[in-house]
Amino acid sequence: MTDYLGTVVAVQANFYRVSLSLAQGGQSLLCTRRSRLKKIGQKVMVGDRVLVEEVDLIDAQGVVAKVFPRKTVLDRPPIANADQIVLVFALADPPLDPFSLSQFLVKAESTQLFPLLCLNKIDLVSEQEQEQWQQRLLGWGYKPIFISVAKVNGLDVIQTYLDQKISVFAGLSGAGKSSLINTLIPQTNIATAAVSGKLNRGRHTTRHVELFDLPLGGLVADTPGFNQPDLDCNPQDLASYFPEARERLAKGSCQFSDCLHRDEPNCLVRGDWERYDHYLRFLEKVIAHQEAVNKMPDDETNLKLKMDTSGKENYEPKLESKKYRRLSRRASHQELQDFYESEVEKL
Ligand code: GDP
Ligand code: ZN
Repeated sequence: MTDYLGTVVAVQANFYRVSLSLAQGGQSLLCTRRSRLKKIGQKVMVGDRVLVEEVDLIDAQGVVAKVFPRKTVLDRPPIANADQIVLVFALADPPLDPFSLSQFLVKAESTQLFPLLCLNKIDLVSEQEQEQWQQRLLGWGYKPIFISVAKVNGLDVIQTYLDQKISVFAGLSGAGKSSLINTLIPQTNIATAAVSGKLNRGRHTTRHVELFDLPLGGLVADTPGFNQPDLDCNPQDLASYFPEARERLAKGSCQFSDCLHRDEPNCLVRGDWERYDHYLRFLEKVIAHQEAVNKMPDDETNLKLKMDTSGKENYEPKLESKKYRRLSRRASHQELQDFYESEVEKL
């Protein structure tokens, strides 16, 4: 009997939709999982690479028998093995706001996943303006891909970055994210611009996570929004989410090992770089957030966490402690989702 390898692209109740690798025909199977997996507490997530047994290609069914170790885990959206976060922003309509873009970049960096920046709607701006953004963002440490979904321009370039990878799309609404995904995968028909007003958001919305197969290779997930503005990371880690600061720190170290790069003497990071001001603004927020969390009694923190995370969707295990939350990479993945929700909610 042949064993099949596949990727879980959707989870619904106790059923898993698994896409077989292209080498094995790329077929989509509806699977259950071995009860042994349940007994050992092995969750099966979207993005999981799995071994499928008892495959019946005619009825398109199988049984998930094994989950391979995960490379990465995003909590919200709950996706395993994501390779990159694709940030889609418009150059115009709505105008590109540097601070907002910076927030998304920092948040994406905090998940440790590579942020790929796509600037859409080049049909609405001059070449000169495009060039200015290019130079500016190179200064931030990013090389944006310029596209126009409407004019089908630059999409082949994006595709080369998506091939063989699991990519999570994010960005402010109106940027052209759904249009882009629709163009890359015509049959998904993710509703364009349908999510405005109060519809489809808020704390109790059940979020459906699904990976879509790109006809030319790769899997993509859309992120349907986010809800807490707090950048919940350790203040000490914030600088590492800025390529400009990383570059400075690669050359040496500040006098104090716990330097927050504000007004400490002999600081390598403080200086004349464009986003240093953004860094300071984020730092203030992060410190305020940390202080608020530290003031909370432990049980209250846990209760809050429970309501914020597992209470909503029952996806995440209850986090153990404030300390764990601060240090956890999983927690910061989860905050990414919260953050995007808040951004969407603000619009
Ligand atoms: P989303 O909220 O990020 O998913 O954005 P949508 O895909 O819903 O697009 C928002 C609006 O921008 C729609 O009216 C699209 O037709 C329009 N749009 C998308 N891409 C482009 C583009 O490349 N150029 C122009 N001019 N408009 C675009
Ligand atoms: Zn410093």
